[in-house]
Amino acid sequence: MTFSAVIVAAGSGVRAGPGQAKQWRRLAGKTVLRWSAEALLAGGAQKLVIVADSRARPLLDMAMKGLRGWTTTPGGATRALSVQAGLAALIDRPADEPVLIHDAARPFLGAATIQAVLKALEVADGAIPALPVADTLKSGALESNVVTKPRNDLWRAQTPQAFRRDRLLAAYAAWEGPDEPTDDGQVVERHGGRVVIAPGDPMLMKLTYPEDFAMAEQLAGRARITRMGQGFDAHRWGPGDSVWLCGVEIVHDETLIGHSDADAGLHALTDAILGAIGEGDIGDHFPPTDPQWKGASSDRFLAHAVDLVRQRGGTLVNVDVTLICERPKIKPHRAAMRERLAQILDLPLDRVSVKATTTEGMGFTGRGEGLAAQAIAVVETPA
Ligand code: MG
Repeated sequence: MTFSAVIVAAGSGVRAGPGQAKQWRRLAGKTVLRWSAEALLAGGAQKLVIVADSRARPLLDMAMKGLRGWTTTPGGATRALSVQAGLAALIDRPADEPVLIHDAARPFLGAATIQAVLKALEVADGAIPALPVADTLKSGALESNVVTKPRNDLWRAQTPQAFRRDRLLAAYAAWEGPDEPTDDGQVVERHGGRVVIAPGDPMLMKLTYPEDFAMAEQLAGRARITRMGQGFDAHRWGPGDSVWLCGVEIVHDETLIGHSDADAGLHALTDAILGAIGEGDIGDHFPPTDPQWKGASSDRFLAHAVDLVRQRGGTLVNVDVTLICERPKIKPHRAAMRERLAQILDLPLDRVSVKATTTEGMGFTGRGEGLAAQAIAVVETPA
């Protein structure tokens, strides 16, 4: 089932204390907003609308760098208006397509919750993730007599909440104040719709108060795993006058022979990244039997591997490439190679390493029959 999604990130989050609004704060190196956006995109959202203050556009672009499939629209004065603005930006999607409305301040969204609300929506007008209330509930003012309230049928509603887009729009159009809805389920309920509960997730806590961030930072570390991949490649020397290595063309009295541009450095690195995420090897993605890759510039293979990492909500941490040859001398070109790799990978320079060694005349590289390259890539992905 296809679905689209709206993240409401237009709020100023005053309860979370001074400083930047909470959606722009970082958890384990990523903005709170990006955590949610990656989860929805990795969970299969065909289109994601982020409702954000247009003045925050530079923050948004920085937070979403490298992610595809999203767009943004300015928010309204209230959450309700912001949600409706987000829905309006989905006009190119089917009117009855399920749409998930998510609060930016709930970063730890898992694939199971996305699937649960979509499933529950099949037999309802709305589906919300919710958790039973565990604490005993009291009613009364601070330092006054209190009354214990039954809690057996009470739930704590979370997001993302799922609806058919046309159904939710109709419900919003019919909403009559003076009160403001605090979630979208409420809007569909009051419009006579059937809203059902799907299993919520304790990890989907809403970051509201300053102390929530300290707890979230701990959880963020635990929610990620580090993966490592290695790659190796070799190509044969042949007649030519330049060679491509790590994305840089070097004038040389021979060239490397291969179906693509034979950039062994980029090939080894591409395999390392694919290896880290268990995505096979370069030949699986770009078969050498396919004529469209003949003479292809290998930076697109590398960019594709990085794209796959991002699509699963991962980030590249660092890479290390070793070129093995007697000639050409690599050292004069190392800085340019690192810069080129950093550019393709969108990494800071100190997380990109290029090294070179000879094999002191031994073996196929020593005899000048070919050049070899090996690489390691470290990737972080959701656990
Ligand atoms: Mg190769």
